Amino acid sequence: MRCLTRALVAGAGLIVCIVASPVDAAETRSKTPSAPRTQSVGSPNEGRLHGGKKLEGSKSLKAARAHRWGVPSLVGMLERSAARVAKKFPGAVLVVGDLSRKGGGDVDGHRSHESGRDADVGFYMRRGTKAWAPGQFITIDADGKAAGYPSVTFDDARNWALVEAWLTDRGASVQLILVAQHIKQRLLAQARRAGASPELQNRAASLMVHPRRGLPHDNHFHVRVACPRSSDDCIEHGTREKKATAQKKPKRRTAGSAENRPTTTKKRRTPKKS
Ligand SMILES: [Zn+2]
Repeated sequence: MRCLTRALVAGAGLIVCIVASPVDAAETRSKTPSAPRTQSVGSPNEGRLHGGKKLEGSKSLKAARAHRWGVPSLVGMLERSAARVAKKFPGAVLVVGDLSRKGGGDVDGHRSHESGRDADVGFYMRRGTKAWAPGQFITIDADGKAAGYPSVTFDDARNWALVEAWLTDRGASVQLILVAQHIKQRLLAQARRAGASPELQNRAASLMVHPRRGLPHDNHFHVRVACPRSSDDCIEHGTREKKATAQKKPKRRTAGSAENRPTTTKKRRTPKKS
């Protein structure tokens, strides 16, 4: 028996319990909105997202773009990894670019990001010896220096801590991290210096991939998580064949669309999508 509310009986000093009838209880249940079940439908480059979770900013995470929806495993992983790096390196702020649109589908400036499983993430940077969060993606050269920003460098320790946090996150399964080859080599060298296990180093080496086409990803990570178990219609990998047979309309390009530019960048490139 469930007590809906308690009432004081005037003058008697008694507290009585008002009990809900079975009908009342059923109506109460039916009026309670249930949380939408997240569904990642289709593939990263031909998909949709239903009931996605919105990424919110925090002290350790800056959400720099409008397309902030993803499957809970991706959004949770970004939040947890930013907090974990900031705990280890106080003051660290993770800059996150596009995830997906609220309902998924085409996102200007991207080949993928359609089914809630992709996110663009800026590198941790340092100016001199101090952490520096520029709020935008900045190109890193082969020496680890930031193009156009004297004294700003790629932060090996924080960026490896980020990749380590992704690969060891229990709430998400990372499927792919697109990043330029010279950045990958820096991170693997840092993993060795940090004493990462051989298993973790091997996983990092296999999941960090230099893109074969599109942008080299020398100014941000593109991270993708695996299909959630609850999404029966989720397709793990992109399907170019499907796109061709579906005769999908060409993606729009706008003057401001480029996945490597959450706000503005000094170095402009022809927008490519991933
Ligand atoms: Zn991307």
